[in-house]
Amino acid sequence: MTQTTDTEILIVGAGLSGLMAANALATRGLRPYVIDKGAVVGGRLATRQLENGRADYGAQFFTVRDAQFHTWVDEWKGQGLVYQWSTGWSDGSLAATPSDGFPRYAVRGGMNALAHALAAQAEDAGAMIRTGVGLTRIAKEYGQWVAHDQAGQTFAAQTLVLTPPVAQSLALLAAGAVDLTPADRTALARIAYAPCLCGLFRVEGDVDLPEPGAIQRPGEPISWIADNRRKGISDDATLLTVHAAPDWSRSHFHEGDARLLSLLAEAVTPWLAPHAQIRESQLKRWRYALPTSLHPARYLRGDAMPPLYFAGDAFGGPRVEGAALSGLAVAAAVA
Ligand SMILES: Cc1cc2nc3c(=O)[nH]c(=O)nc-3n(C[C@H](O)[C@H](O)[C@H](O)COP(=O)(O)OP(=O)(O)OC[C@H]3O[C@@H](n4cnc5c(N)ncnc54)[C@H](O)[C@@H]3O)c2cc1C
Repeated sequence: MTQTTDTEILIVGAGLSGLMAANALATRGLRPYVIDKGAVVGGRLATRQLENGRADYGAQFFTVRDAQFHTWVDEWKGQGLVYQWSTGWSDGSLAATPSDGFPRYAVRGGMNALAHALAAQAEDAGAMIRTGVGLTRIAKEYGQWVAHDQAGQTFAAQTLVLTPPVAQSLALLAAGAVDLTPADRTALARIAYAPCLCGLFRVEGDVDLPEPGAIQRPGEPISWIADNRRKGISDDATLLTVHAAPDWSRSHFHEGDARLLSLLAEAVTPWLAPHAQIRESQLKRWRYALPTSLHPARYLRGDAMPPLYFAGDAFGGPRVEGAALSGLAVAAAVA
């Protein structure tokens, strides 16, 4: 039987932008309803448990440039949720890690812990957040937005905020036969993302990455290797996160898991002590990892009634900071 939930404001996506928007709306006295297909909140703020260890496999750290985001990060630092991990990365060729003095922040317990904290805060302020709701289409029905999920549930709303990677949002609207104006379609079609292939490796034995336990190699096929134990989020096991660069990820995206894990493991081998062994490995394919072509503003209000907004890290600025600011900006517009 179809179960319908009626809401004023429906936010699709409980990644950072959706959660920041939910917080900002709830503290203004509104009651946003947030749904996400994931088993947990966070989207690309993703942390996985392997054996008795923990690894971030989406965003690895974040930086702060904007004053508004600074205020939030200062609060998270005050709560002990966020800490400074480093002020620079070695590319692996240097004995000493260069510092540019610019803080790179990590989250205690892993990046996903930030999403959980924001979700709890939003719910305390009156937002409703539901995970495990995989939408298949969004349609306009009797003057409302109606989102349908694969279990036959529907969510009707006066205002719709879409925060998934734009290609996924557009697919939901197309499946519901929603026609966007040519101007909106053109603006959204300009947005593009790079993929990322990610390997997680549990190692028994020592790993000898330069300080602070991570290397970043822009322009190389394998662009990032991090030791989550030295990062401070995996005290009981050594888990390495390996990210492949966009071009490499694109050209290898459809190869089999075993081959990809063996190629990614090769990048780790030079950093392992002589008797260290990889005991477990997992692969994650991020189809939409980082935006490469952005919309110039922090959100886009579609030329549609009832109101329709697009937000996320492809709007105004990329990455963790961009996603957070986009969520705050779209909330201000909706409110
Ligand atoms: C491998 C990788 C490395 C990164 N490294 C860094 C880094 O070091 N520093 C940094 O600042 N940033 C980094 N980023 C980027 C950062 O993670 C993102 O910019 C940010 O988390 C995006 O947040 P968002 O809310 O815009 O999108 P998302 O986190 O993608 O949230 C969108 C949500 O929509 C949900 N959704 C999608 N489709 C549906 C559907 N049909 N029904 C219901 N829900 C749906 C998804 O489940 C998801 O939770 C990295 C990302 C990746 C993948």
